[in-house]
Amino acid sequence: MIVVMSPSASEGEIKSVIEWLHEHGFEVHISRGKVRIILGVIGDKETLFDLPVEALEGVEKTVPVTHAYKLASRLFKEEATVIDVGGVKIGGQNFVVIAGPCAVENREQLLETARKVKEAGAHFLRGGAFKPRTSPYSFQGLQEEGLKLLAETRAETGLGVVTEVMAPQQTELVAQYADILQIGARNMHNFDLLREVGRTKKPVLLKRGFAATIDEWLNAAEYIMCEGNYKVILCERGIRTYEPMTRNTLDISAIPLVKGLSHLPVLADPSHASGKWKLVAPLSRAALAAGADGLMIEVHPDPSRAFSDGPQSLKPDNFATVMAELRQLVPILGKEMA
Ligand code: PEP
Ligand code: MN
Repeated sequence: MIVVMSPSASEGEIKSVIEWLHEHGFEVHISRGKVRIILGVIGDKETLFDLPVEALEGVEKTVPVTHAYKLASRLFKEEATVIDVGGVKIGGQNFVVIAGPCAVENREQLLETARKVKEAGAHFLRGGAFKPRTSPYSFQGLQEEGLKLLAETRAETGLGVVTEVMAPQQTELVAQYADILQIGARNMHNFDLLREVGRTKKPVLLKRGFAATIDEWLNAAEYIMCEGNYKVILCERGIRTYEPMTRNTLDISAIPLVKGLSHLPVLADPSHASGKWKLVAPLSRAALAAGADGLMIEVHPDPSRAFSDGPQSLKPDNFATVMAELRQLVPILGKEMA
């Protein structure tokens, strides 16, 4: 249930309502908006509806939440969440671009990509050090050495780093190096991992599972948020459909739909969605037009030699062209390049 406090409620009234709810065995999450305070109340629904919450001083109304996720819901927080990562704002009016190779392969490859994507206007560098590969015989990533290279590259270029964490026991290590922890599509249902990243203070980029419904995806965000970490960024990366010509199908309607259901920022990943570098520019335009708060794009200095995801990786020049086009389109669509 959501308890909407009246705009004129005093701090004392708010405190007593929270205490009252605690005394009745409920967990309370507080969302302080510009106009009013909203309380997200978690606990047994049946008991809550029998209690006279609306009779408490300072309460304007109660709203039942019909979906299981609450903290991720727009009902809990009306205003868009804006997450500041090292001075770059994600969400709200801002449009951000995360770019870099699928995997960190070596120092030269990473540094060259980072310099070029930065020059083209990217805000963050991506690169996997722990790679969730379909085959156990494929390149699994440089692991801690890859994390060190990411940190070195950040020191050199100033770009914040987005990198994947695949297992709960890796979280502490990856969090020492990453500015944003990525949860990959294959791990969206890994609830122990979601809880573990929820216990860190790092922003989390949560990719949609390729067979996950929107409801399941938002509940995955809820797992992170209910541990106290509200800095969740959603990323639509394509879902598996019957169409074999693209690696996945970008669910473009998920973008405006999720932005209506949730206050969290929503990015799109046209690289994994299509599996084809030629589709990255048109899908980037589509995602922006649909209201995405940014993009995650794979870039490699020489895609023909990439250890993973070469066919969907842009060469730095093509990435620069996409960025130049986005810079023109972003203001037309009512956003600002972060
Ligand atoms: C990735 O970003 O490199 C990746 C593995 O993506 P996904 O989890 O969306 O497949
Ligand atoms: Mn990849």
